[in-house]
Amino acid sequence: EPTWSRGDSEMRKQIAKPISGGLILSYKCPSQCRHCMYACSPKWKADWISEADLEKILVQLSKYIEPSPYGSQAVSLNNGLHFTGGEPFLNYELLCQAVDIAEKLNIPSTFVETNSYWCTSDELTRERLELLKKKGLKGIMISVNPFYLEYVPFERTERAIRIGQEIFGNNLMVYQLEYYRRFKEAGIKGKVAFEDYFRLEGRDNFVRNVEFFITGRAAYTLKGTFGESFPRYRASHFFSQPCRP
Ligand code: SF4
Repeated sequence: EPTWSRGDSEMRKQIAKPISGGLILSYKCPSQCRHCMYACSPKWKADWISEADLEKILVQLSKYIEPSPYGSQAVSLNNGLHFTGGEPFLNYELLCQAVDIAEKLNIPSTFVETNSYWCTSDELTRERLELLKKKGLKGIMISVNPFYLEYVPFERTERAIRIGQEIFGNNLMVYQLEYYRRFKEAGIKGKVAFEDYFRLEGRDNFVRNVEFFITGRAAYTLKGTFGESFPRYRASHFFSQPCRP
C-alpha cells in the first residue's frame, strides 16, 4: 500500500514497489478502439522502444517482478510481466528480442497481449507463437470485446485462441472470455461495427451483463451512446482521488 512520509518541505507519497508490469513497446496499433486506454492508433509514429532502453528497463524490473501464485512458469493477469502496446506483433522482431532479454534475466510469468489482427493463417500464427514459446515466453492474452471486433475479423481472434491454446495450454488467457462466448453464440463473422453489436445485445444487456471499462478516449467516443448510463465529470473532479481504490 502507498504510505506517506515527510520530505524536506512537503509530504511525499511513497509509491509501493511494483510486483508486476506491462511493457509498452510502442503506442502504434493497427486498430483504434473506442475504449483504448492509451488512445493508440495507426496514426501514431511508431517510435518503438530502443534495444538499449528495453535492456535497461527489463534489468530494473527483474528485481521486482513476482511470479504468478501458480509459479514462475504460469501466468496470471496481475503478476509477472507482459509485453504490450499498441500492438506488439506489429514489430515481431522487437517482441522476440524483449522475450530473449526477459528470459535471460529470469523474469517470471511473462506473457504477450495481442488483438490478433496478424493471425491471418494457421501457419503464420503457429510459427510465431511457437518461436516465442521456444524463446521462453510463458503465455499469451487474447483481447476480445466489441471494440476490437470493429477492427479485427472474429475468425482471426478464434484462430489465435485455438492455436494459442495448443501452444500455451492453460497459459492462454482470453480477456474477456464472456464476450468470446457471446460472439460464438451469436455466430459473429468478420468485423462488426459497434453500433450493430450494440443493437444485437440491446442497450440494457450491454451495460448489465459483462464487466465493461470505459477508459481512455471512451469518454469522448462513447458519449452519445452511453450518455445517460454513465455520468461525465471534468478531469479536475478526480485530482484528489488515489489511483488505487
Ligand atoms: S487493440 Fe489495444 S492498443 Fe490497439 S487500439 Fe485497441 S485497445 Fe488500444
